[in-house]
Amino acid sequence: MSETQQTVEPWLREILRCPQCKGILTDATGPATPELRCITCSLGYPIDSGVPVLLVDLARRLDG
Ligand SMILES: [Zn+2]
Repeated sequence: MSETQQTVEPWLREILRCPQCKGILTDATGPATPELRCITCSLGYPIDSGVPVLLVDLARRLDG
């Protein structure tokens, strides 16, 4: 396990909201990239090179 995984800056992280429900996002690790999860929508938004991709179309479904 590496400690150097790139994540979102804390100040930026604070203002990020789910584009669909405007809910708070939770930090998580997806299959390929870190991601921000919306529990309400069961969606995981990928973080690409430290940049959160908050697009519903590109979000990953968190089923199960
Ligand atoms: Zn949401």
